[in-house]
Amino acid sequence: MEEYDAIIVGASFAGLATARFARGGRVLVLERDPRLGARQRSTCAAPESWVRRLGAGGSILGVMDRLVVHTPGGREIPITMPERYCTLDYAAFCRLVAENLEAEVRTGAEVTRVEAGAGSGFTLHSTGGTFSSRVVVDASGWRAAVASQLMAGYSGAPLARGIETEVEYEVDEVHIYLGNRIAPGGYAWVFPLDNGRARVGLGSLREVNLLELNRRFMRHLGVDSWGSHHGGVIPCSGLRDPVAGGVFVVGDAAGQVLPGTAEGIRKCFVYAELCGRVISRVLSGELPLEEALRTYRRGVLRAKEFYDTMLAIQRIAYRLPDRVLEEVLSRVGSRQLVQRIVGAYFAENRGGVDLTGVASYLRLVGRL
Ligand SMILES: Cc1cc2nc3c(=O)[nH]c(=O)nc-3n(C[C@H](O)[C@H](O)[C@H](O)COP(=O)(O)OP(=O)(O)OC[C@H]3O[C@@H](n4cnc5c(N)ncnc54)[C@H](O)[C@@H]3O)c2cc1C
Repeated sequence: MEEYDAIIVGASFAGLATARFARGGRVLVLERDPRLGARQRSTCAAPESWVRRLGAGGSILGVMDRLVVHTPGGREIPITMPERYCTLDYAAFCRLVAENLEAEVRTGAEVTRVEAGAGSGFTLHSTGGTFSSRVVVDASGWRAAVASQLMAGYSGAPLARGIETEVEYEVDEVHIYLGNRIAPGGYAWVFPLDNGRARVGLGSLREVNLLELNRRFMRHLGVDSWGSHHGGVIPCSGLRDPVAGGVFVVGDAAGQVLPGTAEGIRKCFVYAELCGRVISRVLSGELPLEEALRTYRRGVLRAKEFYDTMLAIQRIAYRLPDRVLEEVLSRVGSRQLVQRIVGAYFAENRGGVDLTGVASYLRLVGRL
C-alpha cells in the first residue's frame, strides 16, 4: 500500500483543478479511465479567464461573449455575457492542466472500495493499486464514488440528463432554446466551436427520448448530419453537504452544478480552488484537518441560498406551459432587466443581487 499526503479521486474539471491548487505535499490523483479526458460528457463551455488561469489556453476552440435566448413563441432575447466564455477540447484541457501539476496522476485506477480507519485516514482500493491518505477529495462526478460509500444515499437519484453532438453550423454566440416544443422539461443549446462547427445539445428533467429530441432540434436548425452523441446525468438537485464522512467533495459529486442552467464547470473551478487552498494549509501544518473540513464546508454552503433559489426557479420554469413561459419572458423582456438578472446570476459568488424575486414571480404566474 502506498501512502500519500492527499488523494483526489477523479481527473476531470473538479479533480484536476483541485490538484492545481493543492500544493506542498505528495498529492495523488486517481482516474478510472485509461487516458485523461478519454470520456467527454459535456459541451465544455467555461469562463475563458479560468481556463487560461489553469494553464489550458491551448485547449480553447471557440470564444463567445453574447447569448441569444429563443422563446417558445420564436422571439429572440439578446444578452451580453458579463465575461467571455469558451468551448474546450476536453482531452487537451485535461492534458494541459495535468502537465502543470505538482501532483502525480494515475489513470486506469478506478476506486472500488473505501475503508475509513479510526483516526488514521482512508484506504482506497482501486484497479490500479491500494493507496492511503488522511486527506481525501471525492471529485468523481455525480455518483460520488467515495462519499456515497462513506454516507449511505449521499449521491441521490439521477435528476436531469443531457446529450450533445458536434455539427457543421456557423454561429458566433451561444443560443438557448426554451419551450416544450423543442425541449420538454429543459432547454436546447448551440455553442460555437472553431471552423464553422458547433456543439448542439439538449437537456431535460423529464424521462424523454433525448436522442430523438436532439435530432429533431438539429433538423429545426436546418442541420441534417451529425457525429456521435455523448452526455450523462446532471445532478442539478441543489448543493449536497460538501464534506461527507471526513472527505472533501467537489464538483458534480457534491451537487455543485447550478440548477436551472446546468452550468457545472465554473462551479467546479471555484470550489476546487477553495478546496485545494485549504488542503495546502493542512499539508503545510498551518491548519488541522478537522478545521480545514469546516472551512471548506462553510465556504461552499455560503452559496446555499443562491442554489436553493435556482432550484426553485428550475422546478417552476421547466413545468410552465409554453404560453405562460412566453408571457413571463415577455414581462422580463426589457433589455435592462434581463441584464440585471444575468448579472445577479454571475455575481452570486461575489454577494451580488439575489434572484429570489424572480423565483417568487414564477411561482405566482405558475399558479395562474
Ligand atoms: C450534455 C452535457 C453538457 C454539459 N455542458 C456543460 C457546459 O457547457 N458548461 C458547464 O459548465 N457545464 C456543463 N455540463 C455540466 C458539466 O459537464 C459537469 O458539471 C462537470 O463535468 C462536472 O465535472 P466533475 O469534474 O465534477 O465531474 P466529471 O466531469 O463527471 O468527472 C468525474 C471524473 O471522475 C472519474 N471517476 C468516476 N468514478 C471514479 C472512480 N470510482 N475512481 C476514479 N475515477 C473515477 C471519471 O472518469 C471522471 O474523469 C454539461 C453536462 C452534460 C451532461
